[in-house]
Amino acid sequence: MINGSCLCGGVRYTYDGDLPELSLCHCRQCQKAQGSAFAAVCPVDADRLTFVSGRELLKEYRATPGKARVFCANCGSPIYSARDSAPQLLRLRAGTIDTPFQCRSAYHKYVASKATWDVIGDDWPQYPGASK
Ligand SMILES: [Zn+2]
Ligand SMILES: [Zn+2]
Repeated sequence: MINGSCLCGGVRYTYDGDLPELSLCHCRQCQKAQGSAFAAVCPVDADRLTFVSGRELLKEYRATPGKARVFCANCGSPIYSARDSAPQLLRLRAGTIDTPFQCRSAYHKYVASKATWDVIGDDWPQYPGASK
């Protein structure tokens, strides 16, 4: 069982499943939403994600129509994003995961808009835009 939480600890969740994939998204929206060089995202199944506490703290912002970015309204931690067209696929923000984990597949996307000050030092695949 995977455990996760936001910065203030108000939002706590468990995930009953694997985390096979990690994507680092370097698009401008993710940079601004995280306040960093990229968003670290694990795709998860909505049915396996359970909010143990803080569901009432979850607030969403839509920078793009049809895509909700969900965060803790108390501390601002980004928790996940989801598209209206695929509500079962949540894109969990990996930095909120407390349980140590490894992913079989990791890659960078939207590197065409990568921050000028960000140096990618791994050998994971890099895609200029969306990966697939
Ligand atoms: Zn919080
Ligand atoms: Zn992005």
